[in-house]
Amino acid sequence: KPRVFSGMQPTSESLHLGNYLGALLQWVRLQDTHDAIYSVVDLHALTVAPDPSVLRDRTRRTAAQYLAAGVDPERSLLFVQSHVPQHVELMWILSTFTGMGEAGRMTQFKDKSAKVGESGTNVGLFTYPVLMAADILLYDTNVVPVGEDQRQHLELSRDLAQRLNTRLGEGTAAIPEPHIVKEVAKIQDLQDPTKKMSKSASSPKGLIEILQDPKAIAKNIKSATTDTETVIRYDEDAKPGVSNLLRIYSAFTGRAVDAIVADYEGKMYGHLKSDLADVVVEALTPVHDSAMEWIESPERLDSVLADGAAKASAIAQVTLDRIYDRVGLLPAL
Ligand code: ATP
Ligand code: MG
Repeated sequence: KPRVFSGMQPTSESLHLGNYLGALLQWVRLQDTHDAIYSVVDLHALTVAPDPSVLRDRTRRTAAQYLAAGVDPERSLLFVQSHVPQHVELMWILSTFTGMGEAGRMTQFKDKSAKVGESGTNVGLFTYPVLMAADILLYDTNVVPVGEDQRQHLELSRDLAQRLNTRLGEGTAAIPEPHIVKEVAKIQDLQDPTKKMSKSASSPKGLIEILQDPKAIAKNIKSATTDTETVIRYDEDAKPGVSNLLRIYSAFTGRAVDAIVADYEGKMYGHLKSDLADVVVEALTPVHDSAMEWIESPERLDSVLADGAAKASAIAQVTLDRIYDRVGLLPAL
C-alpha cells in the first residue's frame, strides 16, 4: 500500500473547520487505501513560543480530535512528533541540503515573521519547512494530505527528496505527492474572508472550531462578513464571504455549490447563514462529544500515542540508517 503521512500543530485549544475539512477528513478517507501515519507536530508549534503550561494540554487535545474525527488507531499510526527523535536527526541532514535562498522564499516564513518583526522571529520559524520535509521523508511517504497553504512547503520536500536521490543515489528518498482537495483546501476566515482561517492568526469570531460551544459556532456563522449585495451566488473574487459559506455548506452536505445557489434564489444571506449553522453544528456535535471523551481519559489517549510512537520510530530508524549511511557517516558499533 502507498504510504500517507500528515500532521497538525498543537497551536490552539481546538482545530478549526479549515483543519477539519481541508486535512483531517482527507486523512480519515485515505486510511482505506493507504498505510497511514499521522502526527501531532509539537516541535513545529515551538516556533511560536507557546506557553509551556498549555502546550502539553493542546497536544493531547489535538490527538483527541484526530481520533474523534475518525483516525482509527487499529489501522493507522498516531503519535506525537517529539516522541520520535529521528525527525530532528533527519532535519539536520536535510538542512545541509537546503539552500538559504530556497528557504528564504517560503511565504509562510515571510508572513509569520513579518507579523512578529525581525527581532521577534526565530531560526526555528525559518527552518520549519526543513523539519516538515524530515517528517515526510522519514516515512518514505508517497502522499501528503494538506491544505493549499502547505503547497509550497510540499514542493520543497519534493525538491529535497529529488536532490537526495541525485546526490546520494536513487532510492535514498521517496518523492511525496501533495493531496490537496481544491474545494476545501482554503477555508477562509469568517471575519476576513480574504485570509485563510488560522489557529494562530484568526480572531475568535473568524473561526469555527470543533470544540467550540454550538451556540458560539452558530453566532460566528451568523455574523460572518458578506458583502453589500443581496444575491446569493458563487464568486470568489467579488463575494469571498458568501462563496466561503457556500463551499462549507457544500462540503458538509455533499451537494454541489450550484444546486445550493439554486435553492437560495430570492432568499437572503440570513437564511443561508441560519441553515448553514444548523448543518455545521449537527455535523460537528458527534466529533466534539467524542473528542471530549478522549480528553477526559488521558491514560487511554497516552497509551494510543505511546503505541504509535514505538511503531513510527521503528520505521523512521530504517530510513535514517539508510540516509546516514549514504551521506557517509561512520556507523556506531
Ligand atoms: P497555525 O495558524 O498555527 O499555523 P493552522 O490553522 O495553519 O495553524 P496547521 O497546524 O498549521 O494549522 O495546519 C494543519 C493542517 O490544516 C495543514 O494541512 C494545513 O494545510 C491545513 N489548513 C490550515 N488552515 C487551513 C484552511 N484555512 N483551509 C484548509 N486547510 C487548512
Ligand atoms: Mg499553519
